[in-house]
Amino acid sequence: MRVGTVREIKNHEYRVGLTPESARELVAHGHEVWVESGAGLGIGASDGDYAQSGAFIQPDAKTVFDGCEMIVKVKEPQAVERAMLRQGQVLYTYLHLAPDPEQTKELVESGVTAIAYETVTGPGNSLPLLKPMSQVAGRMSIQAGATALQKATGGRGVLLGGVPGVLPGKVLIIGGGVVGFNAAQMAVGMGADVTILDRDPEVLERLDNHFEGRAKTRFSNRAVVQQMVCESELVIGAVLVPGASAPKLVTREMLGCMKPGSVLVDVAIDQGGCFETSRPTTHAEPIYVVDGIVHYCVANMPGAVARTSTYALNNVTLPHALRIADLGWKEALKANPHLAAGLNVHEGKVTYEAVARDLGYEY
Ligand code: NAD
Repeated sequence: MRVGTVREIKNHEYRVGLTPESARELVAHGHEVWVESGAGLGIGASDGDYAQSGAFIQPDAKTVFDGCEMIVKVKEPQAVERAMLRQGQVLYTYLHLAPDPEQTKELVESGVTAIAYETVTGPGNSLPLLKPMSQVAGRMSIQAGATALQKATGGRGVLLGGVPGVLPGKVLIIGGGVVGFNAAQMAVGMGADVTILDRDPEVLERLDNHFEGRAKTRFSNRAVVQQMVCESELVIGAVLVPGASAPKLVTREMLGCMKPGSVLVDVAIDQGGCFETSRPTTHAEPIYVVDGIVHYCVANMPGAVARTSTYALNNVTLPHALRIADLGWKEALKANPHLAAGLNVHEGKVTYEAVARDLGYEY
């Protein structure tokens, strides 16, 4: 199969669908890989790196879209990219169609076969192609919070790890899933005083067993959130209620009891945020201050570490890309129900129930 990847054109997107190493795997499987010139620059991969992997460098995206049977990307296709898709072609990327009627309509009209990373499943109803981005955001949240705690950014002037003779900073992580676990790992590694809240007893037990006292766990309810927020210098919002907006767990009133210069990092901002005072920010201007409390609410945190994020993403997307290329999409989906769950649009139809229901398509 001829597989292509293009330079991402969404604002401030530096990741790329295929790394040079992934291109090399596809070539080793007997496939031809076309890469738009400059596609890998955001992760520090040159055209030469791709050429060395056996890929063919093409001058523009149109050549890649026109010539390839499968396009591997990161972000949903933008309008100019959607215009280049066609029937019989496979598009393999993040799509997030439910809140995006315009994109859905154009994908349907194009006739393309679109497989969405975010709905590909794994064992136990997991979403393995979303997980690496939560791992990245969780680990980054402590880095971002530690920086925001410095005086120059309006922070309290606290070093999370403390020093001999001075207490460490207090970190509260609300939500102990993938983001929360990875945040806790980093905070514990820095020597902070860490507490994780969750409302799932099994999650609390798993965390307690893992951290063996290096991080404390508490059952999450209103009273506990209120008390712990007041005591903490860095609060990470990492909750997820599947299919719903994030619950507003920290109210504006609660900010009044926090020490001035404390920091809130709302990782759940992409689901609306779990602090009442959160509003989405960008990497260009990541923080703002409300009532003396510093807020960091970047909705696409992994974009800032495009190289790590691209490699983490390729680790989970490549095995399916190889399956699709080796077997053809039909056989690949038949052989693997988890990959089949990724099919969102095919030859003029929405093939993912939740998207069809939300946007009023026949299913
Ligand atoms: P997850 O499902 O692995 O974990 C969420 C946890 O929140 C679960 O353990 C759940 O029990 C817990 N929870 C739910 N309600 C709670 C409450 N009231 N109090 C305490 N805990 C509660 O989800 P995840 O992968 O860790 O993702 C967390 C959030 O981070 C999601 O909104 C996700 O979209 C977001 N995210 C954001 C970025 C970004 O760049 N900003 C990147 C990746 C993920």
